[in-house]
Amino acid sequence: MGKQRLKPKTLSPLWKPWLSPILIATISGLLAILINVQSFAIGQSSNIFIPKSQRSDRDLIAATFPTPQTHKLPPQLAQWQDSSNSGDYFSQVKSTPVGYLIWSGFPVRIRIATPQLSNTIQANNWVNTVSQAIAEWNNYLPLEIVSQADVADITIIRKAPPLRFDRDRKITRARSALTTYNLYTQNNILHHRFQILLSPSQTGKYLLAAARHELGHALGIWGHSQKASDALYPSQVRNPPLISTRDVNTLKRVYQQPTSLGWSIRGK
Ligand SMILES: [Zn+2]
Repeated sequence: MGKQRLKPKTLSPLWKPWLSPILIATISGLLAILINVQSFAIGQSSNIFIPKSQRSDRDLIAATFPTPQTHKLPPQLAQWQDSSNSGDYFSQVKSTPVGYLIWSGFPVRIRIATPQLSNTIQANNWVNTVSQAIAEWNNYLPLEIVSQADVADITIIRKAPPLRFDRDRKITRARSALTTYNLYTQNNILHHRFQILLSPSQTGKYLLAAARHELGHALGIWGHSQKASDALYPSQVRNPPLISTRDVNTLKRVYQQPTSLGWSIRGK
């Protein structure tokens, strides 16, 4: 469905996000607080990071954002029916200070940053593999690949995630991918934006699996499945699964939840 939308396309300049300086000033202090992370660590479940020092500010943050409300389900999810009763892992999906990380403006615009590689075949293969993961999720949410950085809702970059250090400043574990989001306002509407880093160490089916998994986070599944047969299982497996019925069931439940995203700050 809608596969023709996946060709890179330049949006008209009217789509440029003109941000309100006043609201940026109001909300910029909160941006640092709300940058959040999902990492995909090989062989170990990953976790969701909220800076400890800022957790106590949550009530203040909640008071600043639009009252969480539900959005209309996108058509594919509205029509989605699971006749196999496969269940879901919605209980593992985390809400955030702005509620669930739900997109309400469709299609969601995704930019694949072209890898800076001297081997153009390798660079093209990388882009094609990531595009495939986008095409898979496009069956459930309307997505569009864009080439302009300033209109992208989600940006995917071939880059090693920064190494993570523990308290003793020793490297704990290399991550194969890292997904983060931040918040901004445009015409008084609260929006989010995602960045996905995919490590150059990932190739072939593992790159596809990592892109599929991280896109699941960026599209709203901000948590992990406990079953290895789901795309949002936190560890890499030898034969990575496709997007499962449980993944889609979970996605649908997420989109039935309230969120502050996509609602007017002024109308609060
Ligand atoms: Zn993950």
